[in-house]
Amino acid sequence: MRLIIILSLITLVGCAQKETPPKKKPLIQNTKLSHYVNRHPNDSNQSISMGSVSNGNLKHGKLIPFSGNNFDYFDETSYLNGRAFLNSKVLKTILNSYALFETLQPKRKFKIMECAHKHGGKLWPHRTHQNGLSVDFMMPKLKDSLPYYGLDTLGSKHYWLTFNNNGQYNSDTSISIDFELIAQHILTLQKEAKKHKLKIAKVIIKIELKDELFAGKYGGILKESGIYVVNSLTPNINSLHDEHYHIDFKEF
Ligand SMILES: [Zn+2]
Repeated sequence: MRLIIILSLITLVGCAQKETPPKKKPLIQNTKLSHYVNRHPNDSNQSISMGSVSNGNLKHGKLIPFSGNNFDYFDETSYLNGRAFLNSKVLKTILNSYALFETLQPKRKFKIMECAHKHGGKLWPHRTHQNGLSVDFMMPKLKDSLPYYGLDTLGSKHYWLTFNNNGQYNSDTSISIDFELIAQHILTLQKEAKKHKLKIAKVIIKIELKDELFAGKYGGILKESGIYVVNSLTPNINSLHDEHYHIDFKEF
């Protein structure tokens, strides 16, 4: 009898716990995201990138996961508006690289920014990002030399942050870009890309930040790697690449 009472109590407590409403906001967000993901299941067809990054389309585009063990997509609205699709080879390259970083840099977290539409084409206001081979990555940051994520949750507003030519945040110069982590990330992406018959065609970063990017240990390896980091950009495009770096992949 006592056992029955105890079991009944456990059941009741269990029900009570189940019925406790979770905090409202995460529930709505997660429901929206999970509905969206369910509406866009990734099939096994290999993606086909057509045309160029600045005038192209994408067939069998794959949706990136909204989050993983050490990364997140940066903006829910962008995700729900269908701007987080990639060529399947690029997706595998990115996910495999993040998996490697769980060991390489176990304390670091990363943010992916805008990618492409499911079928490619113009992704306003980007000039490229049209065929699933272009990706924006948020600059990882340090504050007083420690990993800092305080600016990483701004969503699309992150694109409007500005950094000086030493890679320090203009509104608080104790926050700076972690260039060594970027260099290590780019090198890891290139290594993984080759496994999928891809290579990095171009890295776009504000020209004035290139010497900072190449300054450290991984930066030196990157500089000698042959990976093309742009040498010149129009003033407008240049000024937009201080808070994220853009990578175009190409197939071979
Ligand atoms: Zn871009």
